[in-house]
Amino acid sequence: MHRNMGRITWRLKDIPKNVCNRIQNRYHYAKQCIMSLMYNHHMNQSYASDVCMEPIFWFVDNFTHLLGPFFVVGVAVLTATVVYIAHWIGLPFWYNKSPLMAFALVVVGYWLLFNVIFHYYMAVTTPPGVPPDGVLIVEAVSICKKCIAPKPPRTHHCSVCNKCILKMDHHCPWLNNCVGYGNHRYFILYMVYTTIGTLFIILFGAEIGYNALWMGDGEGWLETEPLEGHPIRFNLSGHIIPVTEMNEYGDEGIIQAIHDDLPIPHELTNNAAKHRAIIFMAFICVSVTIALGSLTIWHVKLIKRGETSIEAHINISETKRLAALGKIYTNPYDFGPRKNILLFLGLVRKRTWWRHVLLPSPHKPEGNGLTWYTVNDVSFLQNEWP
Ligand SMILES: [Zn+2]
Ligand SMILES: [Zn+2]
Repeated sequence: MHRNMGRITWRLKDIPKNVCNRIQNRYHYAKQCIMSLMYNHHMNQSYASDVCMEPIFWFVDNFTHLLGPFFVVGVAVLTATVVYIAHWIGLPFWYNKSPLMAFALVVVGYWLLFNVIFHYYMAVTTPPGVPPDGVLIVEAVSICKKCIAPKPPRTHHCSVCNKCILKMDHHCPWLNNCVGYGNHRYFILYMVYTTIGTLFIILFGAEIGYNALWMGDGEGWLETEPLEGHPIRFNLSGHIIPVTEMNEYGDEGIIQAIHDDLPIPHELTNNAAKHRAIIFMAFICVSVTIALGSLTIWHVKLIKRGETSIEAHINISETKRLAALGKIYTNPYDFGPRKNILLFLGLVRKRTWWRHVLLPSPHKPEGNGLTWYTVNDVSFLQNEWP
């Protein structure tokens, strides 16, 4: 009896320990099961995060091309609105100050506008280029796993376009097109001209914006439009007083009820609209300048180094990989900043900055997008430089 009691006590004492062990074993077993289902030799953190991101990639791949046309219409509408406001508010402001200055601004403004429209249109409509189908591509360096087709150097597969793109830079939803060999120059020059264009508006619209947003409505740019013949109202003691305050005609103001029959003066509604337009312009131009400006600077840096956005990533990882082996990596397409830019802009065979960069030019990029000269082609650098 005593012995049995002792045994029971011992068992009760061990129950928590047994349960813990069993739960622990089950946990390890489940973990092994799950890991055995997912494990492969290449498993690492970035692979796992890629798998988790797969639904997002799927969404981007399948719906970006559907959203593309809306983006293009959005860009066109936004550009047209900015141009319209510049003519409506900016041009009269400068014309009143100095007709000569207004003329100079119109010339510069239209030069920028034509370049923006031309390069945007060309970037949207020019195909980036795909490897030719059904012919032997001797230049091929690998096989595209998705197209099951040979891949020339600098070519990458775009999952939105679902095809291989020559010298692919990225897929641009704002263009509803891939940026690659055929339209890379148009894309870059569009960004450069748009950034300069918005900077131009900020620079020559700063005074208008300052007057309207900081000095209040009655100052500055309104000086040129005096409130002649504006309406009056009677105050409580029967005196005639002029209506000068915008808020008396507010959309849902209490005072509006009192002035029910009073027509809303044209000057005031016009000024309210102008005020809103100026705020809109300030917001759009400043944000475009910051966003597109920083993107442009980054892209120009890449071009100076002779690489595309995709190659920038590849080159960084290659540099690290070779550095670990004690070797130095060199980008085979980097001919030095000056030559890289000249090649990119197609400024070869006596083409000039004046005609082929500062003015819209439809010249084709160098080569065929399949073969690329490298820094190892000594004869190219010395004798065959176009
Ligand atoms: Zn492909
Ligand atoms: Zn694409």
